[in-house]
Amino acid sequence: MTQADTQVTATNAGGETVLDAFIVGCGVSGIEALHRLRSAGFDAIAVDAADGVGGTWHWNRYPGARLDSESYSYGYFFSEELRNGWDWSEHFCGQPENERYFNYVVDALDLRPFMKLGTAVTSAHWDPDGGTWLVTTADGDRYRTRFLITGIGILSDPKYPNIPGRERFSGAVAHTARWPKGGLDLKDKRVAVIGTGSSGVQTIAAIGPIVGSLTVFQRSPNWCPPLNNEPITPLEMAEIKGQYEAIWTKTRTTRGGFIHGPITASALSFSPEERRHWYETLYGRRGFARLYTNFIEVIRTKELNAEFSEFLAEKIRARVEDPEVAKKLIPVDHGFGQRRPPYETGYYEVYNQPNVELVDTTETPLAEITENGIRTTEREFEFDVIIYATGFNSVTGAFERIDIRGRDGASLGDSWRQGPNTVAGLGTYGFPNLLMLGGPQAMGGNIPRCIEHQALFLDSLMRHMRDNGLSRIEPTQAACDEWTAHVAEVVSMTLYAETKSGWFWNAVEGATGHSFGIYPAGVVEYGRRLREIEANGYQGFVLS
Ligand code: NAP
Repeated sequence: MTQADTQVTATNAGGETVLDAFIVGCGVSGIEALHRLRSAGFDAIAVDAADGVGGTWHWNRYPGARLDSESYSYGYFFSEELRNGWDWSEHFCGQPENERYFNYVVDALDLRPFMKLGTAVTSAHWDPDGGTWLVTTADGDRYRTRFLITGIGILSDPKYPNIPGRERFSGAVAHTARWPKGGLDLKDKRVAVIGTGSSGVQTIAAIGPIVGSLTVFQRSPNWCPPLNNEPITPLEMAEIKGQYEAIWTKTRTTRGGFIHGPITASALSFSPEERRHWYETLYGRRGFARLYTNFIEVIRTKELNAEFSEFLAEKIRARVEDPEVAKKLIPVDHGFGQRRPPYETGYYEVYNQPNVELVDTTETPLAEITENGIRTTEREFEFDVIIYATGFNSVTGAFERIDIRGRDGASLGDSWRQGPNTVAGLGTYGFPNLLMLGGPQAMGGNIPRCIEHQALFLDSLMRHMRDNGLSRIEPTQAACDEWTAHVAEVVSMTLYAETKSGWFWNAVEGATGHSFGIYPAGVVEYGRRLREIEANGYQGFVLS
């Protein structure tokens, strides 16, 4: 969509497009924000660097990329017509279907005229004189907007390993989060995968059966329970449609925002044999049941965590034929749930193939990328293709990519050197009229369900401000500090803090401190707190 196609209403004398709200991102949060703001009568547009909609589901098109939230708990619930107009084909749908879904939503809600795709936002500077943001894009467009709304995610800025020689490799290269749209020919190729997080695990399982040879460079193994994905028959889908209200209610009342309800009994009221029986039952269940329908003590106490982790270790030993390889695949530095678990389909069996090798980079670190492949401290490997499944500059990376400057010209990157410091992940001190969806200190669990709370909050906040003649909102420093302290306190009640995890911790280069990157108390508590902030007159924010 070009600027000329975008149905914006006004341009000022300086050639700037004048808006109520400029939304950065056309992913899960950008789409909902755009729909709500336009429905409320605001002049809003959304701009994305990607040339298609869907955010995560546009960029992460690597083989095997799929949901690990149940598809029918992941889509938008706010419109009955929208949800009933779509049929999911699997319990955990793959990337192509998810991308199609977000295109369906954008068309059904008629949002495309208000989107500008294939355009990176380069800067956003607060102008104290007019009380507006001046936003510029890579193709030179300038926007003057009252509100700047980010929907750029906390896992969207791809990270490459800091190994010399990356540019020297003469073969094909892909990052899982920037997979080429036309695909990559991997059949019978000698392929390297670096990284064994969720993206690596899904990629390895998908390509293992087709490549000529596969070498997996693993720095840290993860606990990977089976996804247990299955097709959804048309009859099942009809049944799901009849249950959408109940499914929605469940996602709004269970801690992680999934359909997996809690088990309320204490683990200690059962014998070890009974617990083992329950673990077996859970192993056969889907997705996040292993985390959210498990005994709460499994993520709260070291003893029960060790018990469930050992149960998973036994499964790995049973599925991987070579005991030495199995040993390498079993985490020793953290228990299940301390890091975000990847879910797998046939992952462990890939290591039973004769053409697959697992290299532990803690034993033989990656030394350099060469013209022909990868050299570790032990030897050189030759490859046709190198796949980086090395994750993201998590939590703040996407925010650092844009030159965002608030009051007094301070940059957001600088102000978050100690880690993000926000009120409920929605706003940050020094940055008036910047509202963040899907940002730091807010997400956790089933992501669209967190965003849903935020989008509702944004919707009523914007209406409230308009109805009351207010034009400016900014959180106080004290409220930001209070939220950060609250997040840290919740973390301290869990085992999360005892392990390293890019998903949890802000660790951008140059950061001098740490702050927890997600909201660890869960989606339900998060929604409750947003409603409380709103009911108390936007407590923690100054409106004028
Ligand atoms: P990730 O979890 O950060 O994993 C990156 C992997 O690369 C890790 O194994 C990491 O090892 C490794 N790595 C990074 N730098 C390395 C280096 N220099 N040398 C060797 N190994 C290196 O990233 P991801 O797999 O893309 O997943 C990110 C998040 O996205 C996940 O937590 C998940 O929430 C989400 N995700 C979700 C789905 C889904 O829902 N289906 C799918 C994919 C991703 P270390 O662990 O040692 O750092």
